[in-house]
Amino acid sequence: MSIFDSAAFENHEGVHAVFDEMTGLRSIIAIHSTARGPAAGGCRMWPYETDDAALTDALKLSRAMSYKNAMADIPLGGGKAVIIGDSRTDKTPALFEAFGRAVEGLGGQYWTAEDVGVSVADMVHARRQTRYVAGLEGHPAASGDPSPVTAEGVFRGVRLCVERAYGRDLKGVTVAIQGVGHVGANLAEKLAAAGAHLIITDVNEAALAQVAARTGATIVPPAAIFDVEAEVFAPCALGGAVNADSLARLTGRVVAGGANNQLATPQIGRLLFDKGMLYAPDYVINGGGIINVAAEIAAIEAGTAFDPDWVEARLDRLMITLGEVLDRSLAEKRPTHEVADEMAKARIAGAQAARKAA
Ligand code: NAD
Repeated sequence: MSIFDSAAFENHEGVHAVFDEMTGLRSIIAIHSTARGPAAGGCRMWPYETDDAALTDALKLSRAMSYKNAMADIPLGGGKAVIIGDSRTDKTPALFEAFGRAVEGLGGQYWTAEDVGVSVADMVHARRQTRYVAGLEGHPAASGDPSPVTAEGVFRGVRLCVERAYGRDLKGVTVAIQGVGHVGANLAEKLAAAGAHLIITDVNEAALAQVAARTGATIVPPAAIFDVEAEVFAPCALGGAVNADSLARLTGRVVAGGANNQLATPQIGRLLFDKGMLYAPDYVINGGGIINVAAEIAAIEAGTAFDPDWVEARLDRLMITLGEVLDRSLAEKRPTHEVADEMAKARIAGAQAARKAA
């Protein structure tokens, strides 16, 4: 595959293939845009079957980070790294040190962090070779687990969508949550405290029992979550939760949750819109976590401590942006995900133009 012709390339500023003979590291670091600031996005370790698959994943994830960071209005661009390998068998400290050297070689154009298959402990090794690592613990700028902040943003987003779709607050509204992990469990507690009824599912029965005990939620098996009577469906597990099959079964008017890549295809977003349902674009509503990380990066750069007020102000602004997406979708009769993509591209292009003019 030619990189420049690949559908996922989409004007990336840089794509770096990294190989380290001593450790066997094979990594791709994709930098979609630094127009709004240094590119930031986690590092994923995955046993990709082909190099092309790794490249495509890195490119898609990196562009998605540009869009997410632009909509969260944080001074960061979008990037992502993938390490080709099995996280259960192929990890060594030296491998992550080699990855850290590669990040350092980019001179601060890219900030890395944990993602699927990569832990805080792995990133401690990378940090020995580069300062451009976020998400570590035990220093004044550290931001800690981003999940509660992600959940807070999703909670406020659900509240906003219910106001728009049903003209009411959350009291007595039923929310079906798919996945009660880090984000879903926090979201469930906030919704329960606001008086919502919860129906929850997960493949992890222990997690389900714990959340049900804390919130009074009703538990259903994973396959049944699309069929329950609920005003809101909140995907908080894996991607692709909204597909042709689930869309036909959902009963409510709102889809709003924390998972990434909720729409199986962009066409599903159009079908959802045509059904009169309201979809909170995933990378907008779940931007709380990256806002938290951005506060850490800003504090490291400035040599100051983590500032929770900065995070709160950005969360407020995120909800204003989500409201703008919903308003424009209604006014322009276009699906919310198309409106959000357009707004994200415009924000990035605006920053590019400002950079050129400077
Ligand atoms: P997690 O792994 O803690 O939770 C995911 C939960 O989904 C787990 O409990 C898992 O058992 C469950 N699950 C998996 N497959 C399922 C299925 N088929 N049916 C029902 N449940 C299933 O992950 P998380 O950190 O809570 O993230 C959840 C989603 O939110 C992911 O898509 C993630 O990419 C996205 N996200 C997370 C953050 C964050 O701050 N953690 C930020 C932005 C986006």
